[in-house]
Amino acid sequence: MSILLFQCKEKNKTNSIWLNSIKVNTFNRIQLNAMQISEIRKNQLNFYKTQKTKNTAYRKNSLKRFQSVLIDAENEIYMALQNDLGKPEYEAFLTEYFVILSELHLMIKNLTSWSKPIRVKSSLVNFPSTDYLLPEPFGNCLQISPWNYPFQLSLATLIGAVAAGNTVVLKPSEHAPNTSSLLAKLIAKAFDPEHVTVVEGTAKEAQELLAERWDHITFTGSTKVGKIIAKAAAEHLTPTLLELGGKSPCIVDQTSPIKLTAKRIVWGKFLNCGQTCIAPDYLVVHHSIKNKLIEALKKEITNAYGENPAESESYGKIAYRTHFLRMQNLIDSTTPIFGGDFNENNLYFGPTLLELESIDHPSMKEEIFGPILPILSYNSEDELIQIINKFEKPLGFYVFSKRNKFIKKLNDIFSYGGGVANDSVIQFANNNLPFGGIGHSGMGSYHGKNSFRAYTHYKPFVKRGTWIDPFIRYAPYPKSFNWLKSVLKKI
Ligand code: NAD
Repeated sequence: MSILLFQCKEKNKTNSIWLNSIKVNTFNRIQLNAMQISEIRKNQLNFYKTQKTKNTAYRKNSLKRFQSVLIDAENEIYMALQNDLGKPEYEAFLTEYFVILSELHLMIKNLTSWSKPIRVKSSLVNFPSTDYLLPEPFGNCLQISPWNYPFQLSLATLIGAVAAGNTVVLKPSEHAPNTSSLLAKLIAKAFDPEHVTVVEGTAKEAQELLAERWDHITFTGSTKVGKIIAKAAAEHLTPTLLELGGKSPCIVDQTSPIKLTAKRIVWGKFLNCGQTCIAPDYLVVHHSIKNKLIEALKKEITNAYGENPAESESYGKIAYRTHFLRMQNLIDSTTPIFGGDFNENNLYFGPTLLELESIDHPSMKEEIFGPILPILSYNSEDELIQIINKFEKPLGFYVFSKRNKFIKKLNDIFSYGGGVANDSVIQFANNNLPFGGIGHSGMGSYHGKNSFRAYTHYKPFVKRGTWIDPFIRYAPYPKSFNWLKSVLKKI
């Protein structure tokens, strides 16, 4: 086992070279075979059985160690995110590093109290008793993460799982190789590998991990792969947290303040070069303000990223070539009304606006997940509702309007993961709000206390008193029990 663990630590060496101004990572990792992966799982299983993670001081100390490792590695983290996604440091701080440090702070502060038995009201039927929910970890967790926020989306769930007393094997995305290998290095510094470890790799390694039996699986990624994960989990009846994607609509009605609306849409859409799972995927604008809004969007893009976003230090890049080519294909048949410029050499793809007549356009066939914003218009609320209803339940839902009745009407009709009125994406920033999807955009949620809950089984437990033993439930049963009916019906 020790040889294997040594290999796991050694495999994190990377060899990066500059090519056409993109930092390419040759990803010099040792490929783990199915047997080695199985060995990692067994080690974590045996470790979990030692009951060490049930001790809240152990969890807290592990997370504190991780906190100090992350504080020391702040600049390395920004560098990895810059190399993988061209992520500006400011964006990396706000949307990745800061999110994780505050999750860590919250867990370290609260995990002891959240782990205590929770007393619940007893039932008169069980009198005398004291009733509890006993928080217990699921056990051995597998977590598979995506490349778009590769630091934050790998660690937010991992921290929740560790705080709740689980072991974790994390498989980060191969499309953010610098962050993947940095995560492997930082996690190896902070945790015993039997407690938390990283298996780097592609779908192949993910499949090998999925062939093992886990107590919980977390997957953040596409709906398509989410279905593969759910099938693999079903084999062992393993509970899952599935954080998926979808087409998140952004509705703008005739009452919304145009300049502010445009500014907030541009920020949410082009953050991380549009590669945000909760970014507005498409706009549906009331026809009476469409032209004005389009002009305002163009202006706000220029305000944010300058006349030439390719030169902007605030604008990222597409993560990898296949994804870049997918963006190109989406606009192939159309002349954008803004942007549409790209450079395959450095995976630059400019902020792009498309004006569409109908939802038959290729960009409306799947989640865009990039810096292309299709704009549709509606005349009547019925027409608007019909458009949104053509798609699966989305992860995000945005409506810009001054009419509370209209906002309420849409909220009553549509189901979605999380929504905002008069802004976009910011639902993510409040860790009192659970983050997750519904239907094809996922199941389960996390963030803040919800992360602790997501990785905890609340074991119901009744402690019966022995000082008295009411006869009512025991056989032989009485012929008439109207008195009992009348008492119990009043409870
Ligand atoms: P993806 O589904 O292609 O990959 C995610 C992870 O799954 C990666 O680690 C990858 O190696 C692994 N994987 C890929 N194919 C697999 C297979 N056949 N079997 C097992 N594992 C496999 O997703 P992505 O391209 O990394 O991310 C984009 C998608 O993720 C978008 O749809 C986006 O909306 C969604 N997303 C959702 C959230 C959320 O919080 N709900 C966050 C980020 C991204």
